[in-house]
Amino acid sequence: MPPPIVIAIDGTSASGKSTNAKLVANALSFVYVDTGSMYRTLAWYCLKQRLDIHDAKAVARACRTWKTTLVCVKAHVRLLVEGYYPEREIRTAETSAAVPHVAAVPKVREWMKKRQRECVRFGSLVMEGRDIGTNVFPETEFKFYLDASLEERSKRRAAEGIQENLAARDQRDSQRAVAPLMIPLGATVVNSSGRTSAETSGEIIAAIRRRLKP
Ligand code: C5P
Repeated sequence: MPPPIVIAIDGTSASGKSTNAKLVANALSFVYVDTGSMYRTLAWYCLKQRLDIHDAKAVARACRTWKTTLVCVKAHVRLLVEGYYPEREIRTAETSAAVPHVAAVPKVREWMKKRQRECVRFGSLVMEGRDIGTNVFPETEFKFYLDASLEERSKRRAAEGIQENLAARDQRDSQRAVAPLMIPLGATVVNSSGRTSAETSGEIIAAIRRRLKP
């Protein structure tokens, strides 16, 4: 069996990472991993436990002791907490605002990186996030960085019924001390402004296929 391949797709909030990463995973028959949902799950869990999300020690302790499992359902990886998948709860405005705080805790990032690297046991991956090409799988030769104008990203979120200060979240993600959001060295930068997801994902798939050719 050839070793698993990892496609890293990083980028700003609402830049189209999820839609495009799913299309790429589907086209290549790879497993899709949304690492943002893992950080969201921890933020949701901390809020549910009524922890102070600004207390890094309390957040790190929660991350050390919560009972989780990683499973792969229909080629999508899910992080379960005590067997539960909080699919809808992690998308609320409250969770979105809390997540950059828990994601900035170094012990949390260590824990997440370990779990995310373990995902190769499910096969070749398309993994999306903020630090996949820089920190989680820096060794992969398949790195993409997605972006779009703030105006277009805000419109996309509004169309989903979500009013969010994306610029504030991006700023927090880009300025944290550990594994900040940045363009990975050697990454292909893809701008999705004014383009359909078929066009954007098509560009990414074509670039991967060119590289995979013997
Ligand atoms: O991608 P999504 O918007 O769901 O990510 C939610 C948050 O999770 C980000 O704003 C960021 O704070 C955090 N995150 C991260 N590193 C990743 C993925 C997400 O810090 N690899």
